[in-house]
Amino acid sequence: MEFSSSKIYSVVAQTCPRCHQGSLFINKNPYKIENWDKMHADCPVCALHFEREPGFFQGSMYVSYGLGVALSVAVVVVNFMFGFDPVRYFITNTVALLGLAPLLFRWSRAIYLNVFVAFDPNAKRSKGQSASDSMISHPGA
Ligand SMILES: [Zn+2]
Repeated sequence: MEFSSSKIYSVVAQTCPRCHQGSLFINKNPYKIENWDKMHADCPVCALHFEREPGFFQGSMYVSYGLGVALSVAVVVVNFMFGFDPVRYFITNTVALLGLAPLLFRWSRAIYLNVFVAFDPNAKRSKGQSASDSMISHPGA
């Protein structure tokens, strides 16, 4: 399996979870202030509609919370390597969380989308194809 067909690639590169080619976000630079959070409504390559239902991306806040906790744990581990100082930890953790906020935001949305949409190597732009064709079915849901 090629790396470009893995979900990790889709998340890190912030590409469409179905075709792994179209960009999720309008601007590839997450630190471009005016549109760092603006997403394409549909994939420019395979036309997958990204917002699966109204408020779909509210669920990605749980992913964002998990990423934030993981980052804070990583910062505390690094701080312990240099002798723990609570003030230094507070400062470095605040800088890390604020500095990486745009990336955490984008990765959380990409992870959340990848939970629900499967990779389809044959996905191409086709107007007749339903966006739900690649949905993973969840028993009991
Ligand atoms: Zn796509």
